[in-house]
Amino acid sequence: MTDSAAPAPWAWDDATDEAYEDLWARFVRWVDWVEREYAPWVVLPPCWPVHEALRFELTLLWYAHDAALYRSTDPISGIQWHVDLRNAANAWRALATCDHREPSPEQRRIEQARRDRRDEFAAEAMTRRSADPANHEQQFETEE
Ligand SMILES: [Zn+2]
Repeated sequence: MTDSAAPAPWAWDDATDEAYEDLWARFVRWVDWVEREYAPWVVLPPCWPVHEALRFELTLLWYAHDAALYRSTDPISGIQWHVDLRNAANAWRALATCDHREPSPEQRRIEQARRDRRDEFAAEAMTRRSADPANHEQQFETEE
């Protein structure tokens, strides 16, 4: 049996509460270090921990930093880490001024209407696909 199904080290979902707390504390210290040492490139909003995508990207950069420092013998990995950090930091600037307010009832209504509309289009697209004789499933069915 291989361990190919084992979660990656940065997938903490299965971590025990104690392990998670330890990982989280070390991760937050690392992010603090990145903000301090890579300022003004890296500017994160104080709400970064609740932005799942940002938190995940930072987690990956943390592991990549660790790999470049402690597991690589190729300086290119450290150079690449810096390139990746600067690219990410440029993208993070759009979020740097997040005031993280809860959406108003009107904003929630607009967002729900947008999702409802998307669902309608998704259902329509599915209907068109199943009615389209050129779709792949039907091609495969006629070939059998
Ligand atoms: Zn925010």
